[in-house]
Amino acid sequence: TQRYPEQKEYLQATFDIAKDVIPVCNANEKYKQWEVFKRLCEPERIIYFSVSWLNDNHEIEINKGWRVQHNGLIGPYKGGLRFHPTVNESVLKFLAFEQSFKNALTGLPIGGAKGGSDFNPKGRSDYEVMRFCQAFMQELQRHIGPYTDVPAGDINVGSREIGYLYGEYRKINNRFGGAITGKDIEFGGSYVRTEATGFGLVYFLDDVLKQAGTSIEGKRIAVSGAGNVALHTALKATQHGAKVISLSNSRGTLFYEKGFSEEDLKWVIDHKGKPDNILLSLNKKIKGAWEANATPWSAEVDIALPCATQNELIGKDAKLLIKNGCKFVLEGANMPCNEAAQKAFTESKIVFVPGKASNAGGVALSGLEMAQNATFHKATYEAMNSALQEIMANIHQQCVKEGDEGDFINYAKGANIAAFRRLADAMVAQGI
Ligand code: NDP
Repeated sequence: TQRYPEQKEYLQATFDIAKDVIPVCNANEKYKQWEVFKRLCEPERIIYFSVSWLNDNHEIEINKGWRVQHNGLIGPYKGGLRFHPTVNESVLKFLAFEQSFKNALTGLPIGGAKGGSDFNPKGRSDYEVMRFCQAFMQELQRHIGPYTDVPAGDINVGSREIGYLYGEYRKINNRFGGAITGKDIEFGGSYVRTEATGFGLVYFLDDVLKQAGTSIEGKRIAVSGAGNVALHTALKATQHGAKVISLSNSRGTLFYEKGFSEEDLKWVIDHKGKPDNILLSLNKKIKGAWEANATPWSAEVDIALPCATQNELIGKDAKLLIKNGCKFVLEGANMPCNEAAQKAFTESKIVFVPGKASNAGGVALSGLEMAQNATFHKATYEAMNSALQEIMANIHQQCVKEGDEGDFINYAKGANIAAFRRLADAMVAQGI
């Protein structure tokens, strides 16, 4: 708090993990003596650069760009790029810190990073997005590579942006390969990467419900967001027999009591890149209830899956969800539940799973994309889907092992401790 008093997201993320891992650190002579947790909190490197580019009116625009290479202990730095006006150093440091722990849970050889810009692709022409991505990559390319740092997508960085970023990297370096993941299937992408975070979240949910002696069949679910994670979560949950009754975006929430059909969700997935509000267009077809500026957390549901952005579910939302009978909350986004919300869930013994465990499917598939690129091999859809299920089941087991409190599985604590042990052991083995 003294060193970075203004970085509230970063402090929130480090405090959240500290409460679970400091006792583990204190119980291990080497971890304690070598200041393992303190060293894990600081990013190994932060790269800042400015991005100048030409808009369609031939005016120069200047944005900020960053790459936070948090931790390379167990593999090349790995984590997404976010293009959003809310991006700043604190947000990227929190995301990179969380990413190191998440990546450790996957069991794959990938370190943690995050990057991005305050550029907003919304409302920009394709040419503007392309010129921005090219200018961004002209600087970033000197800091990344298949064995150094492998960026991917995040908020507002989807297949179009990844294509432009990768194209520029390839032209400058004259090299095809795994320096970026989330690529299209035609040029080195992996099957199931697009769906992986949402599908993985539902596979994890299946395991959580099984552990609790129940199943997803017939459960009412509130999903927030209407982007990559939210839509694939809603689709897989629907395919598994649940009723998803909400989707949302920064303008409001679409409630649909009957539950979205697979066909509705596939339609939104196919049309979500369009500039207008896709949920309003969906509502014209299905006649649900659009509530401007509302969140989904007032609904009566069994399960809440926040899949939009950080701190979108706060203490009062948590209390309302609990009052309305919600029993399970799994994060699809990164840190969508603020501290007060997490506290309310834990105190009421609501099962709460943090994103670093439940949304790790995306980065896990990215790790598998890297492996395919390194060997010029392309695995089948079925192989990748079952690898994803296996990785999520393994993360679930680690959480249960480290978070079992007798009558309750504390998934947040389990995930923090399991990830910390892997990183701490690597740090000790590699010396100071
Ligand atoms: P997208 O850009 O595809 O979608 C983001 C969605 O969240 C949009 O519907 C957006 O609405 C909504 N949203 C953004 N900000 C707000 C806000 N302040 N209030 C309400 N809604 C908001 O992003 P992704 O689906 O890829 O990512 C969502 C979350 O999941 C992020 O936290 C990301 O870090 C995390 N994540 C993503 C992974 C991936 O593989 N994509 C992997 C692991 C985590 P609008 O269009 O109106 O802005």
